[in-house]
Amino acid sequence: MAEYAASPQENTLEAYLVHLQHCPSLAELKNVKNLGSYSSKQAAYNKAAGLYDPVDYCPKCFTR
Ligand SMILES: [Zn+2]
Repeated sequence: MAEYAASPQENTLEAYLVHLQHCPSLAELKNVKNLGSYSSKQAAYNKAAGLYDPVDYCPKCFTR
């Protein structure tokens, strides 16, 4: 399990990004919302998608 958080994307403020709790950029971001613990990033994404739209993965936390 890992802790996840969501924050508005820095530039657009419309899309939300899903972060791992230890993401270094979270300290600089405002309106960070703790999503809780999930067994996969997909589960955290699904939680965020229920709260915000659109949602994407933080490129610093998740490499594709
Ligand atoms: Zn991040």
